[in-house]
Amino acid sequence: MTHVQDHFDAWLRDAFAAEGQSITMLTSQAKRIQNYPDLKARVEEHLEETVAQQELLRGLLERTAGPPLIRAVAGRLSTAAQGISGMLAGDEIVKSAMSTYIFEQGEIASYQVLLAAADELGDAEAQDVLSRIMAQEVAMADWLHDHLDMLTRIYLMRDERDLQAKR
Ligand code: MG
Ligand code: FE
Repeated sequence: MTHVQDHFDAWLRDAFAAEGQSITMLTSQAKRIQNYPDLKARVEEHLEETVAQQELLRGLLERTAGPPLIRAVAGRLSTAAQGISGMLAGDEIVKSAMSTYIFEQGEIASYQVLLAAADELGDAEAQDVLSRIMAQEVAMADWLHDHLDMLTRIYLMRDERDLQAKR
């Protein structure tokens, strides 16, 4: 049998690692986007939020589990690999916006799980922190949901006119 606290700590470490991947991904996107200023600004904003999220998770982890291990090397490599294959794509901007949207949905699922476990533990501090992070993930996912249509149309229009479209 594994105690609830041990599950919670393991899921918290996973979330910490995922935020690290998110920082890698968003940093590279923010640098590469050239022709889509709204997306670039939103990515930069979420990058700042994500750096703060990772620090909040570190704070929660240090209460019971000690400092997060620097692991998930495989995860970082696969994120880097995705970034590279995305860069080679002619439709890089569309692919990266889709990847970010999918990534945000994954984060939402993982914070749902963490919130349920925090509630089971009666851990009010964690519930407070995790709800604030969740609200930022939902806001980012909603923003992408609302902008993927227009982003795609602008990409198609630019490509059709031989303007630089891919980023
Ligand atoms: Mg996040
Ligand atoms: Fe996020």
